Amino acid sequence: MTLKTWEDVSKYQKEVSRIMINSQRLNRISHAYIFEGPNGTKKNTTALLLAKTLLCTNKQGHNPCNECHNCRRVDHLTHPNLFLIKPEGKVIKKDQIQKLIKEFSKASLEKGPRIYIVNEADKLNTYSANTLLKTMEEPGADIYQVLITENYHQLLKTIVSRAENLHFTPIDRDIIKQQLLDNGIVANIANAVSQYTVDMQRALEISNNFQMINIINLVLDIHKAFLNDHNSSVILFKNNSQEILKSGELLDFFLDLMIYYQKDVLNYQLRHLDSIVFEDEIETIKQLSEKMSQKYLEASLEKMLGLKNRLKFNINTKLAMDQLLMCLERGYKYATFCSSDSI
Ligand SMILES: [Zn+2]
Repeated sequence: MTLKTWEDVSKYQKEVSRIMINSQRLNRISHAYIFEGPNGTKKNTTALLLAKTLLCTNKQGHNPCNECHNCRRVDHLTHPNLFLIKPEGKVIKKDQIQKLIKEFSKASLEKGPRIYIVNEADKLNTYSANTLLKTMEEPGADIYQVLITENYHQLLKTIVSRAENLHFTPIDRDIIKQQLLDNGIVANIANAVSQYTVDMQRALEISNNFQMINIINLVLDIHKAFLNDHNSSVILFKNNSQEILKSGELLDFFLDLMIYYQKDVLNYQLRHLDSIVFEDEIETIKQLSEKMSQKYLEASLEKMLGLKNRLKFNINTKLAMDQLLMCLERGYKYATFCSSDSI
């Protein structure tokens, strides 16, 4: 997903967009930026938009035209004046930087600004950081750098003191959800996934991962089984849980979804309808909310959150899940609640 304009950036990172539009208007674009914030907050695509903005030969106000030769070469990452660096292994190596400096001085470069974007800039060591900074400070050098990091506090002081810092905040869940819907993802999946992660890239990956989609559907089926005397949630889980129980990640996802659903039932009871995640299941949620008292719902939620914490330790997950489902099933079907030590 590329960002074409600074207005596009504004949808995800309002403050960053405002600052960049302003600094262009005042003709005060910095030569060194730090883009810092969690994964999936559009730091990379924003850095590429900055490169395009600097290299475009037919700028439209503060935006690149997205059509000229330069713009297209930035989009394809083939512009000779654009350099991308990321760690090879655990660090950004000395010879990576030396290679970059050499490239910088080549005649193959075109006129105009040169931009380098360093990914995981917290992995620059002192030598590499100083060498880069020195290059930039050569007289007449029209060089821009964007240093991208999720670990701002691990950046070297020399870097931090000479660069303008732009903070990228986690993207709003509603925006993630809308984007998933725009990508043709069905509502139940878009809702659940946008609740689970605010990392856009990760959200798209999950929405296209059949194992994870199966888990979402399993959670929906389990809750329907709670309402059906001929159906057992424990057996449903048993028939579908082989993969889940083998993977910490899938198990965590499963339990999170179970928690969202249980919260939905509680929220329905409390008439907090705006907070409901599985909107398309509202009829099932309504029926479930009539089966368990608020006190039981809250108590079971607490147990589930406790279980989520205990998953980090070496517990018998199969047994724990069976007990959880049995407990919920008993609560929904017979309005009896498990004793406090049974999950
Ligand atoms: Zn252009």
